[in-house]
Amino acid sequence: MIRCATVSNSDVNKVDWQEFEKLHALFEKFYPHIYQLMELDKVGQAGLQFHLKGTGSGKQPLLLMSHQDVVEIGDRSQWKFDPFSGDIIDGCVCGRGTTDCKHLLLSELEAVENLLAQGWRPDYDLYLSLGYAEEVYLENDTDAAQRLAENLEKKGIRIGTIFDEGGFIQPEKDGWLSARIGLGEKTAVNYEIYKDSPGGHSSKPGAGTALGAVAKAIVNIETHPFPYRLTPLAKDQLIASAPLQPEGIKEIYADPEGRWEDLCALAKQNPALDALLHTTIAFTMASASTQPNVLPSHAAAGFSVRVLQGDIVESVQKYFTQFLPEGVKIKHISGLTPTPTSTPDSHAFRLTEKILHEMYGEKVLMIPVLMLGATDTRYYRNVSQDVLRFSAHKKDARWGEAHQVNEKIPMDALRPSVEFFEKLLKLY
Ligand SMILES: [Zn+2]
Repeated sequence: MIRCATVSNSDVNKVDWQEFEKLHALFEKFYPHIYQLMELDKVGQAGLQFHLKGTGSGKQPLLLMSHQDVVEIGDRSQWKFDPFSGDIIDGCVCGRGTTDCKHLLLSELEAVENLLAQGWRPDYDLYLSLGYAEEVYLENDTDAAQRLAENLEKKGIRIGTIFDEGGFIQPEKDGWLSARIGLGEKTAVNYEIYKDSPGGHSSKPGAGTALGAVAKAIVNIETHPFPYRLTPLAKDQLIASAPLQPEGIKEIYADPEGRWEDLCALAKQNPALDALLHTTIAFTMASASTQPNVLPSHAAAGFSVRVLQGDIVESVQKYFTQFLPEGVKIKHISGLTPTPTSTPDSHAFRLTEKILHEMYGEKVLMIPVLMLGATDTRYYRNVSQDVLRFSAHKKDARWGEAHQVNEKIPMDALRPSVEFFEKLLKLY
């Protein structure tokens, strides 16, 4: 799988679709029961959506999601191995996509194939939905996940629970494990502020340039961050992770409402906690004149906003508008309002907990998590309310991180994740 260089690109014309075909040929070879027994819809350029009709129980359908695409390799000279060799070195499978997220693709497909080969058939409808452009925002086409979600919507299908990439299991102190289950995600929304002016020679600037006006807007916006507030998921996350915090902080996490002022003070020092408590703003791009002696006729600054549940794309834009000096305008470039979060008080969450206790014993701490990055599930808002972003892999120091050079995963992390999904499929 790793040898298929399924690198996505925001321009669909720049993608090597043959690599996806190679991957699909492998799927067909390794997963014959899935191909024989499940109905397959090919969606968009490389999307695969499988469906197995249940034997009938009235249970809501289950959907396992993952994406087939990977990010580009970055600087090749920094890689210690061929990023698309899939070589096994020191017990690790090495290469781009091993931890994001062909490991999950493998777990889901292996689990379904293994059970089907044993003669197991679900009493509920089972779906697999495998995207091909999770890592990019398609500029000249409909987003892949949107097409896959719409393929379900147009058939009127409602899914009970979705599993997708996101959280994992992590070793903690005193022999504990934490299982981080993504029950919600912020969305990435991009805006641009800009000012147009006639331009001209820098010897006659008058009262200031378009660039200066945009700079004032940046300062105004940055000095007016969104106020902190506690969403139900953030509260659950803080309380559940309190036992992992050091003395002094533990007590604040355990009672976020009662210790609200202390929590806000902590958040000012801790960017991850800060991001949990409000919509964040990051100015990342700026442009103006290309020459020192030319007044900019167009100055612009792009910024990335991570929107928290409770805010919507329109309300966020309106909030910024009040801080813009005269002549500076704002436009929404891309991104959606976040989907509602799921609740830990669900059948799937409790089942996940039960399976993990069965596999790892009682010392597993379940932590509902708000993810700060977005996944393909953002397009599935009309398909399901119950989304668990969790791959069931146990993570440790041997991993080579997602999106970085030298991405790799230990072999021994793979089988337990397959086992988790086998149990999930049987007990759902
Ligand atoms: Zn991913």
